[in-house]
Amino acid sequence: MLKGGCFCGAIRYETDGEPTQATACHCSICRRTSAAPLVAWFTVKPEAFRIVSGQPKRFRSSEHATRTFCSSCGTPLTFQSARYADEIDVTTCSLDDPEQVPPRSHTWRASGISWMKSADGLPFYPEKRPE
Ligand SMILES: [Zn+2]
Ligand SMILES: [Zn+2]
Repeated sequence: MLKGGCFCGAIRYETDGEPTQATACHCSICRRTSAAPLVAWFTVKPEAFRIVSGQPKRFRSSEHATRTFCSSCGTPLTFQSARYADEIDVTTCSLDDPEQVPPRSHTWRASGISWMKSADGLPFYPEKRPE
């Protein structure tokens, strides 16, 4: 069971799904919606993910994608794309213990910031993860 929530504690979630993917995303939308040079995500099945308290605010971040965040403290929480209806991405650093799901790759590196360097040894992909 993975548990997490936003910084202020208003929103709590849990998931008993086994993460199918975990990546550090450098895309411009992740960067701008988090004001951070990259955002680490893990992926589970939508039916395995539950909000257990609070109500995240939802907004459309592109034509096909919806993101949620806490409207009190601003913590980004989830990403869902109509192109991948069978997946929900959750921000790894909203977990109570982000050590539980380390990223396995870097994605959208072609859109990344040049000073954001990494020596973690993980593979870099210029855009999305290869299927
Ligand atoms: Zn909050
Ligand atoms: Zn991204």
